[in-house]
Amino acid sequence: MVTQPPLPDIASLWRDTVQPAPPSQPLTGTCQADVAIVGGGYTGLSTARALAARGVDVVVLEANRLGWGASGRNGGVVSGKFRLGFAEMARRWDIDTARRMHDIGIEAIENVGVLLEEFGIDADYRPSGSLRCAHRPEALEALRAECGWLRDTLGDDAVSILAAGQMAEETGSRDFCGGMLNRHGGVIHPLKFHRGLAQGLRERGIRIHDESPVTRIERRAEGGVHLHLPGGRVQARQVVLATNAYSSLTLASASVERRVVPFRSAMIATQPLTGTAGEALLAHGRSYTETRRMMRWFRKSGDRLLYGGRGAFGKSDSPAAFAALERAMLKQFPQLEGIRVTHRWSGLVAMTMDSLPHLGRLDDRMVYAMGYNGTGVALASYIGEHVADQVLGRTPDAGLLGQLPLPTVPLYPIREIGVRLVAGWYQFLDAVGK
Ligand SMILES: Cc1cc2nc3c(=O)[nH]c(=O)nc-3n(C[C@H](O)[C@H](O)[C@H](O)COP(=O)(O)OP(=O)(O)OC[C@H]3O[C@@H](n4cnc5c(N)ncnc54)[C@H](O)[C@@H]3O)c2cc1C
Repeated sequence: MVTQPPLPDIASLWRDTVQPAPPSQPLTGTCQADVAIVGGGYTGLSTARALAARGVDVVVLEANRLGWGASGRNGGVVSGKFRLGFAEMARRWDIDTARRMHDIGIEAIENVGVLLEEFGIDADYRPSGSLRCAHRPEALEALRAECGWLRDTLGDDAVSILAAGQMAEETGSRDFCGGMLNRHGGVIHPLKFHRGLAQGLRERGIRIHDESPVTRIERRAEGGVHLHLPGGRVQARQVVLATNAYSSLTLASASVERRVVPFRSAMIATQPLTGTAGEALLAHGRSYTETRRMMRWFRKSGDRLLYGGRGAFGKSDSPAAFAALERAMLKQFPQLEGIRVTHRWSGLVAMTMDSLPHLGRLDDRMVYAMGYNGTGVALASYIGEHVADQVLGRTPDAGLLGQLPLPTVPLYPIREIGVRLVAGWYQFLDAVGK
């Protein structure tokens, strides 16, 4: 165990631009449920929604305040992408598999719109698409090939290639020799989205307890499980582990902890840019990612610019990692010289060995869903539909997500060294233009 929840709130731009959180509702005493869900991020909430819609009595248990995990502090990029590309999926498996995974990505994006409508959530959603920004000609060639493959093989005509001049107009930066526009998806205020989901589910009578860390899960000889918490106990027939990159918070998710590698992702946000030289940047309001291996990304939220990338290694933030992000932002956007950075925060994303998210069953009483590899806003808020099928003993129609095992990461105890080595190698390749 590395930490002792409940943990303090995260001082992000999102927290400062949302209504104050409702009072916490810790679990006290003993309660019963058909299914107990451990983790109250998008995965936990989407699973609760889907199970409740099928008549299952659920309870969600979140260790910290609601939205404390990645779901409340991410970049708000709504995307249907996986870390593993669709063409690569077709190569490794077959074209039907790639097509189903592409469909799942689109379904997940569309589901964001469904949830906003269903619960009447205003989360500043802009379906403005995303732009991949090529930092050198070879990267643009790769984007061109990917774009052609998506259009010709999967019939996806929402993607197109932009030339250098269009990139300068789109981004306000002269750094890019071209890019790939993808009109699927957009940007959202992730914490407003999360809060709206939680509130909507509570209004339906679904029990969601925050500041309620599950410290131990006990399998009962007579069937079912007991979940132990500091304030009480839950008796359930099944458990869903929805703890993603925070699976080492307590021993309750020890059975999945070593199947994902937590990787720190950091973000900074500027002061409002209205009336400054940075005002006109990113005028189309999309999300933007670089093609570098150690990818950096940016977007606007209101009239602020958000800039993200790799965070510090280790257990917490470091001023050096934020300073590196700030330097990169200024190099890319010299117009921001003299502009104040008002917010700096980070969180953990869950990487998997095969670069894919997974859902599956550990045994007759435990199901899990996790491993979004940094792209879970749309997918985690959608995956509950498939997790519910898994819980109810049906075969999820979730493509590779529900078919492949989620193996233990080799050499897990020295994972930080491995992550440093890989990141260092990627930085070297980026620096020498490979
Ligand atoms: C800085 C950052 C930027 C990102 N940007 C993007 C982006 O722009 N677009 C995108 O698609 N994805 C992005 N992601 C990834 C995305 O946020 C995640 O994939 C997604 O939120 C995962 O949701 P989740 O519910 O599975 O996990 P989380 O939201 O992390 O929820 C897991 C929860 O489990 C709780 N928990 C753990 N152990 C216990 C226990 N024992 N008892 C009770 N509760 C427990 C934790 O407190 C935590 O709240 C980003 C992530 C980070 C960190």
